[in-house]
Amino acid sequence: MKATEVVEKLKNRFPNEPEYIQAVSQVLGTIEDEYNKHPEFEKANIIDRLCIPDRLIEFRVSWVDDKGHVQTNMGYRVQHNNCIGPYKGGLRFHKSVNLSILKFLAFEQTFKNSLTTLPMGGAKGGSDFSPRGKSNAEVMRFCQAFMTELYRHIGPNEDVPAGDIGVGGREVGYMFGQYKKLTHQFVGILTGKGQEFGGSLIRPEATGYGNVYFLQNMLKTRNIDIKGKTVLVSGSGNVAQYTIQKLLELGAKPVTLSDSNGYIYDPDGIDEKKLAYVMELKNIERGRIKEYAEKYGVKYVEGAKPWSEKGDIATPCATQNEINEEAAKILIANGVIAVSEGANMPTVPAAIKQFQDAKILYCPGKASNAGGVAVSGLEMSQNSERLKWTREEVDAKLHAIMDDIHENCVKYGTEPDGYINYVKGANVAGFLKVAKAMLAQGI
Ligand code: GLU
Repeated sequence: MKATEVVEKLKNRFPNEPEYIQAVSQVLGTIEDEYNKHPEFEKANIIDRLCIPDRLIEFRVSWVDDKGHVQTNMGYRVQHNNCIGPYKGGLRFHKSVNLSILKFLAFEQTFKNSLTTLPMGGAKGGSDFSPRGKSNAEVMRFCQAFMTELYRHIGPNEDVPAGDIGVGGREVGYMFGQYKKLTHQFVGILTGKGQEFGGSLIRPEATGYGNVYFLQNMLKTRNIDIKGKTVLVSGSGNVAQYTIQKLLELGAKPVTLSDSNGYIYDPDGIDEKKLAYVMELKNIERGRIKEYAEKYGVKYVEGAKPWSEKGDIATPCATQNEINEEAAKILIANGVIAVSEGANMPTVPAAIKQFQDAKILYCPGKASNAGGVAVSGLEMSQNSERLKWTREEVDAKLHAIMDDIHENCVKYGTEPDGYINYVKGANVAGFLKVAKAMLAQGI
């Protein structure tokens, strides 16, 4: 297999899918050597079979807004690969959603889920509907209409969606209710459910906590303590919030937050009280991060990302492609020692190269943000057992999984000079398990 040739072929086949091509190139470039050690993979054409999703489901979602007008959105589910377990991955509701983005996310999810050590295949779905600015009743009607189409393609042993950007506990609850009405089944069909109806403790916190556990492991390889480190965080939703909560618990100092309009810089640090305000602002009032700057009298920069501020660690927790080459150069010049991704593919390839050339600890989201889907996997286990584990039990399992992922990255990603190439480590470890399972299951 020659990665560049496969990517060229894909570019011709899918000319309008830049994010998808970006994600695939990144993986193929790093697994090429390992793949070519296994002629049996080439014989079974594992690459073509992994680069094209098993199935794309596309549907219309029509719903009635508060004024009585009928609105129409697109709905999608990309079922990428189910060789190691049922399809599993979130739903994203955001105006930017299109097939290229969902295909890249489903592709990444397959490797991420493989890394978690749990039996989950990869999928992703969503809609170009954005809950922002919609009433609660509108969100409910949209979720019901979305599930009315999606329900026939999913099942607890078939495909188990969850949240992602724009899909939190509220949306999962409405979709769960509709699934139950349509099928008369009370089953673990979605993860990230409310605590009262089968949700797992620690699931809301899991991506952020896991991100910090992973970061601690990265720092440990250089004997660096996270305590006292200044951290640049982007985003202000679920992943950013619980990343900050865990950072505070460990004595680090988060100083930035952002949303799609701009970022805030708080040199005194975002403490517990300010974090509680952010949670209320974003989760309850659905406000903008600018309001933080007004409340606490700190700097707000419109239309920019926080990467020009000075920090020891950067953790992008917003969305794809928000650290470009220029931002990476500034972060490096400002002395960043580690970059840990809470979001999916937030760093562009040229920026990753900058970090790696500068020998900075850099980890891709498929490893460092795998804690979210890992606890989703634990939620599925609890649903199957009809049991509920304690916070401590789930947190301990999450921590052990993040340690395990780190160990695998070190195993497959350590270069001759001792530098840990986490991109390579995560991709090779994730890929080998999926490829071996595909081979064993025939064509
Ligand atoms: N959307 C999350 C992710 O990117 C979680 C998916 C899940 O829990 O299934 O991994």
